[in-house]
Amino acid sequence: MHSLLPTTTVGSLPKPSWLAQPEVLWSPWKLEGDALVEGKQDALRIAVQEQTRRGIDILSDGEQTRQHFVTTFIEHLDGVDFEQRQTVRIRDRYDASVPTVVGSVSRERPVFVEDAKFLRSITDRRIKWALPGPMTMVDTLSDAHYRSREKLAWEFATILNQEAKELEAAGVDVIQFDEPSFNVFFEEVQDWGVAALERAVEGLSAETVVHICYGYGIKANTDWKATLGSQWRQYEESFPLLQRSSIDIVSLESHHSHVPIDLIELIRGKKVMLGAIDVASETIETPEEVADTLRNALRFVDADKLIPSTNCGMAPFPRNVALAKLSALSAGADLLRDELAGTDREAA
Ligand SMILES: [Zn+2]
Repeated sequence: MHSLLPTTTVGSLPKPSWLAQPEVLWSPWKLEGDALVEGKQDALRIAVQEQTRRGIDILSDGEQTRQHFVTTFIEHLDGVDFEQRQTVRIRDRYDASVPTVVGSVSRERPVFVEDAKFLRSITDRRIKWALPGPMTMVDTLSDAHYRSREKLAWEFATILNQEAKELEAAGVDVIQFDEPSFNVFFEEVQDWGVAALERAVEGLSAETVVHICYGYGIKANTDWKATLGSQWRQYEESFPLLQRSSIDIVSLESHHSHVPIDLIELIRGKKVMLGAIDVASETIETPEEVADTLRNALRFVDADKLIPSTNCGMAPFPRNVALAKLSALSAGADLLRDELAGTDREAA
């Protein structure tokens, strides 16, 4: 375990082919009943083992127990009708058939807490668990009840806070909220997005992360990115608000993105989970490339606040690609650690 530059991933890893069809996002389970429960646990064991032997410091569950980063959580809530579907535009980018909010939303029982307890029981390393952010949840639904994105987000934030507190009690060290919507709905981020997120983390002593990205390397996202011009300045909208917020860590894209690296200055004081691995290309980064990306960021974030990571999840990759990228991330962080230790020696 490295105290300087502890490595982690945004979250998802490919699932084993016996659990769900590989290289497809959101693919259905191949098992059911008790066999599915066991299969998910076996997949968690593999995710832990691979991350550990490839030198990752803060382990994720690889999202092995969920099908979709938002929908799987919503499926466990009351007040949402999965039979009543509407086609809505998600993140202003692509149309999807989504369930409808038909009554007050509530969480009757924990969603991921048993999975998190299992993960806790099979590793001594620090563990991180990801939940969808309130705004991204709202944006993945049709609402026939509250008729207000803000009100619904507030309800979800309360539910997320309950779940997060139980994850913390189960031994989760870092709790992450995925808010890709923060790169799209700037006015709402300002009006209530960050406030809803802060409601979700209220009273937690675990470290908290907000992950804001440009999405998986799927066509709808790469087409969208092509319209964003040579400089992606979306973070400029949310970062000043997050800098003043109670969130501990901000997770952002960097490697191969068009995000100007100096935008990190806007979150000075926060820990930065920096994407040094491209999730839109199967080419494996060299350790030197990873180290370069991380080193560039050090002009705007202190080394003791830098957490090397991936740009987003790696679920759609072939397994060997995702695993090789984990190794590249570790090797790149090692290079930079050695370099920093050398500088310290020279200064002494
Ligand atoms: Zn992402």
